[in-house]
Amino acid sequence: MSSNEKIPFLDLITPHQELEQELTAVFQKVIGTAGFVGGPMVENFENEFAAYCDAKYCIGVASGTDAVRFALTAAGVKLGDIVVTVPHTFIATTEAISQAGARPDFVDIDEKTYAMDPQKLQEYLERDCYVDRASGKLYNRKLRAPVTAIVPVHIYGQCADMDAILELAARYNLIVVEDACQAHGAEYFSKKQNRWLKAGSMSHAGAFSFYPGKNLGACGEAGAITTNNEEMARHMKMLRDHGQAKKYYHNIEGYNGRLDSLQAGLLSVKLRHLAKWTRERQAAAVEYDRLLADVDGVTAPHQPQWSRAVYHLYVIRVADREGLQKHLTEAKIDTGIHYPIPLHLQKAYEGFGYKNGDFPVTEKIALEIVSLPMFPQLQPAQQARVVKTVQEFNSVSSVR
Ligand SMILES: *Cc1c(COP(=O)(O)O)cnc(C)c1O
Repeated sequence: MSSNEKIPFLDLITPHQELEQELTAVFQKVIGTAGFVGGPMVENFENEFAAYCDAKYCIGVASGTDAVRFALTAAGVKLGDIVVTVPHTFIATTEAISQAGARPDFVDIDEKTYAMDPQKLQEYLERDCYVDRASGKLYNRKLRAPVTAIVPVHIYGQCADMDAILELAARYNLIVVEDACQAHGAEYFSKKQNRWLKAGSMSHAGAFSFYPGKNLGACGEAGAITTNNEEMARHMKMLRDHGQAKKYYHNIEGYNGRLDSLQAGLLSVKLRHLAKWTRERQAAAVEYDRLLADVDGVTAPHQPQWSRAVYHLYVIRVADREGLQKHLTEAKIDTGIHYPIPLHLQKAYEGFGYKNGDFPVTEKIALEIVSLPMFPQLQPAQQARVVKTVQEFNSVSSVR
């Protein structure tokens, strides 16, 4: 490889070229049967993905956003409730909460894992909330509304510390929906159960996105919900399909939120390669860790003992993020920032009245994070060039 060839942030073309024949066969089958919506391709994929996640049920939906929304509604979140999540996530998490009729509220993240800090969650529940005597419900003091659910986000492909979160949820009788949109196949070691658990199988439900750039990506928009709860599975199947229990029998009002057959068929093909792609991402992460160990001024990702991350993203932290990103761009190395503006400071949430200083860990890391190229086909030589370029920038900027 020549030393100035561009290193992309993500390569979506190579895996599709490699699988072109299998993917095209799915398309021909769908065309041939005109089975565009529902049918065996959707059911097959749902069964396969449920098995992959160690969950009893999987419900294919139109997007990860719909997955979070339908899961919250089916778990019992109602209009006017408060749902607690983190400000360090993609806005789809809070959009889905709002679309389920609830108001999102935040607790800060852990500075090492970048996921929900259980300590901050405990403080929120104890300090900012009280249990209403009459109803037995947990209320937020300031907002005067019931807090009914928690949405931990398995950010960058690493599970949040679920034992601690689930214990608090049990204490206050709260719903938990995992936002596993970046964490297909990620694992968490539960001390309580003394075994490894899969993302999306640990709570009331797990929400997955198959947006093309995710670890398992459709050739368009798609998502899924996993659950072990039969009643919730039935409810979510109705929600995605206009509230139908059977054709033209509408038990409730629902949505047009189905996974279409073509995407399901394409996802089935790709799912067969996901374990291998995940191993390749993990190997690339080990290689980055090794190369970066010698580089001063860079904080590499932290993987606790209880985590087997799937590295949707490989995110480092540096003091001069803008400078480093510019330097990498000049060396033809693409990077990303996930995410530059914390949700509580987004214009969309101005009306909620949050201010700078409310969630200091999120605010601090948002200024320091850079996502390096990460995808299964990433080569060690490319990684060496990325890290050499990071190192170069460090020595230049420390001289200044
Ligand atoms: C991608 C993503 C979503 C939304 O998924 P879509 O399929 O794009 O609707 C939700 N939450 C997180 C954390 C995501 O990364």
